[in-house]
Parts: sequence; structure tokens; C-alpha cells
Amino acid sequence: MAKTWDLDNVRNIGISAHIDSGKTTLTERILFYTGRIHAIHDVRGKDGVGAKMDSMELERERGITIQSAATNVQWKNTTINIIDTPGHVDFTIEVERALRVLDGAVLVLCGVAGVQSQSITVDRQMKRYNVPRIAFVNKLDRQVPTLCVAKMLEEKLHHNTVMMQVPIGIEDNLQGAVDLITMKAWYYSGENGEQIDIKDCPDDMKEECLKWRSELIAKAADFDDVVGEKFLMEEEPTEDELRAAIRKGCLSMNLTPVFCGSAYKNKGVQALLDAVQTYLPNPKEVRNEGLDLKKNEEKVIMRTDDDLPLVALAFKLEEGRYGQLTYFRIYQGKMKKGEFIHNMTDKKKVKIPRLVYMHSDDMEDIEEAHAGDIVALFGVDCASGDTFTDGSVEIAMTSMFVPDAVISLAVEPKEKAKAANFSKAPQKFRKEDPTFRVHRDEESNETIISGMGELHLEVYIERMAREFGVEVKSGAPQVAYRETIGATAPYDYTHKKQTGGSGQFAKTVGKMIPWSPGEGDDESAVYKFQNNVVGGRIPKEYIPAVDKGFQEAMAKGTLIGAPIVGVQMDLDDGAYHDVDSSEMAFRICAIAAFRQAYEKAQPTALEPLMKLEVSAPEEFQGNVMGQINQRRGIISGTQTQEGFVTVTAEVPLSEMFGYSGDLRSATQGKGEFSMEFSRYNPCPRNIQDELVKEYQKKRAEEAK
Ligand code: GDP
Repeated sequence: MAKTWDLDNVRNIGISAHIDSGKTTLTERILFYTGRIHAIHDVRGKDGVGAKMDSMELERERGITIQSAATNVQWKNTTINIIDTPGHVDFTIEVERALRVLDGAVLVLCGVAGVQSQSITVDRQMKRYNVPRIAFVNKLDRQVPTLCVAKMLEEKLHHNTVMMQVPIGIEDNLQGAVDLITMKAWYYSGENGEQIDIKDCPDDMKEECLKWRSELIAKAADFDDVVGEKFLMEEEPTEDELRAAIRKGCLSMNLTPVFCGSAYKNKGVQALLDAVQTYLPNPKEVRNEGLDLKKNEEKVIMRTDDDLPLVALAFKLEEGRYGQLTYFRIYQGKMKKGEFIHNMTDKKKVKIPRLVYMHSDDMEDIEEAHAGDIVALFGVDCASGDTFTDGSVEIAMTSMFVPDAVISLAVEPKEKAKAANFSKAPQKFRKEDPTFRVHRDEESNETIISGMGELHLEVYIERMAREFGVEVKSGAPQVAYRETIGATAPYDYTHKKQTGGSGQFAKTVGKMIPWSPGEGDDESAVYKFQNNVVGGRIPKEYIPAVDKGFQEAMAKGTLIGAPIVGVQMDLDDGAYHDVDSSEMAFRICAIAAFRQAYEKAQPTALEPLMKLEVSAPEEFQGNVMGQINQRRGIISGTQTQEGFVTVTAEVPLSEMFGYSGDLRSATQGKGEFSMEFSRYNPCPRNIQDELVKEYQKKRAEEAK
């Protein structure tokens, strides 16, 4: 049956949650109630089938969802695309890319554990991408203080929340919830909770519910004049007026409606789907910006309109049974099977061989897809993050924030016979995930993979074994240090060489200055080149070679062998020779000049600091803080709530190896933590001295 395309009834949403909050279970239920699957298999269930969204074997084993996939479902008259957002912080880039393409989200919170550090990280990312949220407090079939969770949302995430429901019954007796807008009680029964009976609010709950309802009205009044006026006049707003006001609050990201239930016990999921429809935005209500490549990357507003030229972002690649599957978000225009689309990155033109809506493992072939839609294509070779258009415009969706890698590992295949697959695997991962990097270290002749954390790399090593059949041996993890300078220093270097025939001659004079990006600079830039040469003292054609030489020297500092950042190189003067000067001579001269200045510019080693958040039962506070101190951590805050303490700190990554095990033993397995890259900071003197010594030793060995 062909669906009529009505953008008002499209929702592109993510479901985001801390591991073990019940995201997989909830998604499974949604697929069931929307008729996408016909049986419910619980995660790690007895039948061994596993919930449908976890299509990777590895995920099934770990019980966490690592890869995001998009699933298209139909709820009443609304098409909902569910973009699965991974919950682990190590996968920042995947989370962020998924967040980029969704318009709204359901924040699943575990009623038992409350708001955990992971939820806070993901929530912060959502704020960055302006994603409006509704919250679902799950696991109400366990003893749960729902209201506490709502309060925690307010206190920990700083959300202005509004309770939309009050649960009926607690623990084993949970039956459903009272909808505070209509004051009707929803009871869920039947084997899979598919039977819904809507009755009047039970008498013994009326008082409590009315109290919550007046709070709801008071909060809604802030977002809508009609409700605001009625609130002041002590008149009763209509149900629709209330919904409209709360919707406004939600879309402006100033209000988070809170729903509740139990995914596992099949309570409350249908009402949550109604809420997705009612409160989260349709694609037209979201502001998206692209970059006009013809106009020096000027920002252009995308309009969700089928009649405009196509602009679509490839946000996710998956290796499926039928080859590479690429997920797209269409920002404007249409995609039609058989038509050509143009990749803005490599300017190549490709034909759309097959267009599908994905449903986890199944798919539905379609002829065309529309502005605002999420679709998948087969047989398109590209990297995730590439933008495609119909060729009539050159627009790229805003470049994503790709953080620097902070950790690296030397890897090699256990069996030499598997070398071919071993080199294929990282190339593929690299395409999916730009924060995963791979390179060959020329000096040690090793393959080095680098990424955002220990687990990030571990998962790829496991995937190499599973997907490519390559068992991998890895070295000790290496922290990605940097070098920088503390002072300005001059250089004056002449490169002269006379061998047989033509010689080499170049002279450069200038200074090296500490630098950081300012207004108008690329924020991630680490270097600036300033050419002040006048009167042809160095011919124009050699200037780029000098710039290149400086950059080459920066790739590997002479202090500890790490890349150098934060340097401005001024080229003020120089000299050349009519016959003996060449680009090569100037490049070599620049490298030597750089090193000459660098020695005098107070070179300093920088180490990555991680933002750490640990929560554990209060009695372990001393242990937790002691461990952080031992690891050179600086504690920035502690918060205790209901017997739990949450400690936030900044800790050098180099001290964090093996932390998860140590935390476990210090908290009887009850502590948990999340960690994400914060910034680079100068190493303490003694650490720097050690790094220098190590580097010199390594160099001496290599020289032998
Ligand atoms: P995810 O890691 O967020 O995807 O969470 P899962 O869906 O894998 O759920 C984690 C565990 O919590 C599983 O053992 C589920 O059976 C259980 N679980 C999920 N939802 C509920 C719920 O509503 N009530 C209870 N009691 N357990 C639940």
C-alpha cells in the first residue's frame, strides 16, 4: 500500500538511554505494537532469539547497542523513523552523527537506578544538537520512586520537567497510568499488553492526580498565552490547549514531559508512542543548516520541501547481507530509484540502484523517498558524513565535530596468513567512524589504530575477529601526547649542500610564536603560517615549500616524538640562489629552521585529560576519591543523593588504564563511571622528564 506522504505526520526520533535502562526492550515493544514484528523476544531471553534491534552478534553478547540503525514504523497515522543511538560515550561520533539527523528523542531513564552519568553525557550531546526530548521512566514494576526520578531530571539534567502521568499501582501490581491531561486511567492487559482499557481516574487517586494536574497547568501556562491567561483567571484550559502549550515548551527545549511505565511488563508503551506523535517535532519544525560550497561555505537554511533540489546526508554505513547499506537523511528534495545523485565530497555521480525503508533486519523496497525522510540505499560507495545532492546545487551538511584521538594501540594479526583481511578491516571501520583511525608507523613498522578510549578500540578488535576472522594481538595502549611551545624563539637557518653537479641552497629567517585559534580561524587548527617576506627575497614559488616544511616538522616533535600543536611560524626574510635553490631545498631548510627555533621555544609535553564521573554507594566515597587522587585526578564536585555519591573529576588518561577493574574492587562491584575527553594540558615536570627519557631511549635503540 502506497503511503501518502504528509510531513506533519513524520517523526524522526532517537531513543537514548543509559545501558540497561531498557532501551532494547522498549524498542522491541514499539516494533511489536506498530506491527513490525509479530512476537516479543526478550533481551537475553530464554528463547535465545534476542531482541530484534540487536542485529550484531557482538551486541547480543554484550547486551549493549553499539551500531545505530534506523527503523521505520507506522503508529496510527504517523510514520516514525527510529534512529538507534548508541549509549556508550566511547562512541561519541556515532552518537553525535545519529543526533544530527534526528528531530526529537525519547530519553529512557531507569526508574530503579535513576539518572546516571551516561544519561547526562548523552543529554548534553542532545542539547548541543538542539534535540527536543520527552522522558520515559522505565521499570516501574520494580520498587521505584517515579517522582524522585522526575526530580532528579530537574536537578541533575537541569530540565524543567512536567509529569504527564501518575502510575497506577506499584511493583508487581503496576497496571498502567492516569493521563493527567484527560484524567483518564489507562489499564494495560493481555499477554503482551495490547489490550488497553481507558476508564475514569480511580477515586482513591483523584486527589493526588488533581494536584499533579494543577502543576501541569501551571507549567504549561509559561509557554502559551491562551493557557497563561486562563491560568491567571483560574479558568480550565481545554485538553487541546494544554497539549499545544506543552508541545511548545517541548519544542523550545524548555520543558521535558515525563511519561512512565514498564517496557518489560508491557505497560505504557502505547501512550508513549502517542506522546511521540503529540509532543515531538515533525521535520518541518526543525531548523537545519547546510554549507553552500559555491559561496565559501556560507550557511544556507534547508527547507523540508520535495520541490527543492535534493540534499541528503549519508549518516550511517552498515555491512549487510547484500553489501554496503547506506542510511540517508533527506533534508530537502526527493530521492528516486534509478536517478543520479552527486557526492559532494568526491564529486562523483552515482545511480540509485535500490531504495528501501529499513526495519532492523528486514526491508521494504520503495520507489521514492521525500524531504524529511530517513531511507537506506544499496550499492552506494561513500563514507558516512558525505552529503549528496541532485547535482544542481553544491551544498554540504555542516561538518561534524570530530574529536582528536586520545589513545592508540599497535596491532598485528596472530596468523600471518590473515594479513589481507587484517588490512581490510580497519579501512572499513574508518569509513564508518572517523574517530577510529589507522596508520602505519614507518619507524617501528607497526600498524597503529587510535580512537576515543580503551573500549572503543577493544570493540573494533573484537569486530575484526568476528567479521573478518582475524585474531589480533595488541600492544599496550599508548596515550596520544602532544607537544607545544611556551615562548617565542627566532630562527635563522641556511641550508647549503654542494654535491657533484647541482647543489642545494635556501635560507629562511623568522620566528616561532605560541598560537591558538582566534576569531575566524578553524577551531581545530593547530598551526598558522605568516608570510612577511617582501621584495622577492624569497621568490613566491618557494613560499609554499617553506610552509610545507614547517608542517612536516610539526608532525613529530623532537621532545617526545609527539605531534606539535599551537604554533605560529612567521617567515620574515631569507635568501636564494638562482641555480641551486629549489622547492626541495626550501622545504628541507624549513624543517631544520623549525627545529632550531623549537629547542629555544620552551617545548612542553601535553597530555589528554578526561572528564570522569563516578557514582557509587555513599559508603565507598572515600575509596573512590582516594583512587582518583592516586591517579593525579582533580576532583571538581561531589554530590550525594539517596545513598549514592557522584564524583566528577578531571584525570589524565595515562593514569586510567585498568580503572574499571580497580573501581569494581574498591566498590564491591557497585561503582560505575563514564569518561570522555576533556582537553589537553601540560604534563607535570616529572612526567615530562620520564617521557623525554623514554623517547631518547627509543631513538637510541632505533639508531643502533
Ligand atoms: P538496554 O541496555 O538499555 O538496551 O536495556 P535492555 O532492554 O537490554 O534491558 C536491560 C535489562 O533490564 C534486561 O534484563 C531487561 O529484561 C530489563 N528490563 C527492561 N525493561 C524493564 C522493565 O520495565 N522492568 C524490569 N523489571 N526490567 C526491565
